[in-house]
Amino acid sequence: MADPCLFCRIATGDIPAKVVYEDDGVVAFRDINPQAPTHILIIPRRHIPSVNALEAGDAELVGRLYLVARELAETEGISGAGYRLVMNTGPAAGQSVDHIHLHLLGGRSLHWPPG
Ligand code: 5GP
Ligand code: ZN
Repeated sequence: MADPCLFCRIATGDIPAKVVYEDDGVVAFRDINPQAPTHILIIPRRHIPSVNALEAGDAELVGRLYLVARELAETEGISGAGYRLVMNTGPAAGQSVDHIHLHLLGGRSLHWPPG
């Protein structure tokens, strides 16, 4: 079998990360190269390469990523000011790790449209 990907290894604790939340299906940790005062990545433990690979049965799991994001936005103190949730998908969007991840960005004004 192929070696587990970087985020699979973070999910198992094989590679250290600043984990801020975890449960049986979801792990959240601080981005190593933060683009905002709060920059957290929320991932499923199960390896899913991208949004392109999602199946109907993944609907609950994807919903859980968003519910964790909502909780973390609250604990980070950015719920009221606002924040951005992004799932880059594929090369044109700059996806650099092929394990689905939801970016939670906040703590500063975020421009729109993004670059
Ligand atoms: P993408 O560009 O695929 O949407 O996002 C990947 C993110 O993973 C980037 O923001 C990058 O900084 C982050 N990242 C890459 N390698 C590591 C790592 O080893 N640890 C952590 N915590 N974040 C990482
Ligand atoms: Zn993976």
